Amino acid sequence: MILIHYGEIGLKGKNRIKFENLLVKNIRRILNEEVVKISREHGRILVFEKENADYELLRKKLKKLPGIENFSFAVQTPCNIDEIKKNSLKLIKEEDFKSFKVHAKRGNKSFPLTSIQINEMVGKEIKNKMKKEVNLNNPEITIYIEIGKENAYIYKEKISGIGGLPTGMQGKVISLLSGGIDSPVASWMMIKRGCNVIFLHFYNETIVSYPKKIEEIIQLLTETQIESKAYFVRIGDFQREVIKSVPAKYRMLMYRRFMNKIANEIAKKEKAKGIVTGDSIGQVASQTLDNIICIYSSSNFPVFSPLIGLDKKEIINIAKKIGTYEISIKPYDDCCSFMVAKHPVIKARIEEIEKMEKRVYFSPEEILEKAEIKKFVI
Ligand code: ATP
Ligand code: MG
Repeated sequence: MILIHYGEIGLKGKNRIKFENLLVKNIRRILNEEVVKISREHGRILVFEKENADYELLRKKLKKLPGIENFSFAVQTPCNIDEIKKNSLKLIKEEDFKSFKVHAKRGNKSFPLTSIQINEMVGKEIKNKMKKEVNLNNPEITIYIEIGKENAYIYKEKISGIGGLPTGMQGKVISLLSGGIDSPVASWMMIKRGCNVIFLHFYNETIVSYPKKIEEIIQLLTETQIESKAYFVRIGDFQREVIKSVPAKYRMLMYRRFMNKIANEIAKKEKAKGIVTGDSIGQVASQTLDNIICIYSSSNFPVFSPLIGLDKKEIINIAKKIGTYEISIKPYDDCCSFMVAKHPVIKARIEEIEKMEKRVYFSPEEILEKAEIKKFVI
């Protein structure tokens, strides 16, 4: 069986119930055929897998699901010290180790032994029967014992989850996804916090072919979100219009304001609550504080940028951890760099940009009509 612990201790009342319900539903969805039964006990979720389950697969899937603090492959025994001793021995009998410790937690206060007494009794049993040493500070193996209401759970490994909130806890957001390193990380962070992220990617159909790489990123993030929707929008016609009348050093800002405006249209249609980008202050010329303000002012919806205060190195570390990095570094010409100046303006003035925008033909309806919408499932 699998014992799942969830975090977010701050959640109370109705929110807590919603959290638990969603988490159980999401676990069922990702593990589906691997699972026979899921039940709940105060503060933990119990998953009973089918016989001959693929444990590596179960581990891989649960390690990506938002809302899980940690989980363990455990044995369930009746709340009885002899059973606990017997099963603790059984759990580690194949292991090669010299030192160990027992870490008991008594959730059920009606159990007659305290945690310390359980530690001592089980510890003594292992020490005598297996001839191993107790080492409380730096043991090679820890045997965890949790005493629940009716059953006890014994395991030897606590596997970290990603934490966060189950998908579906919060509303929808539209995430501007480029092929770069940053925006997949920003999207992942919003998914992790329970948002339903709808992806939006722009490409210039005259310089890139179908964005396969973007689909790979979305597919990977869907392992965390379970189900995703994505919009692919062509930006070539708009860019050609911009090039006709706007000096090269302003074009990047125009493109990004355009992206926001389309994202706003989609947000209205999808009843989403905000826009997400992978911006980080000062990382590139288009991301000076002044430029960010100029870009974001084109949105009526709030713009969320979860990476705003992170350094590139920190973002790369997350990208590597979640697996998007390897896909992001594959070559891809982002449309943002289409015919732009090497040195764009770094202190854009909103009024100036708005004046230039009046000269460019732009119809969000026409553009959205041609958008391609795709669904992704785990
Ligand atoms: P990233 O690594 O996410 O591409 P970046 O550091 O390269 O970010 P920019 O290319 O200036 O910075 O892009 C800033 C943000 O604008 C991106 O994080 C993304 O949210 C959005 N963006 C840029 N290009 C596109 C695109 N083609 N489609 C959708 N959104 C985009
Ligand atoms: Mg980029």
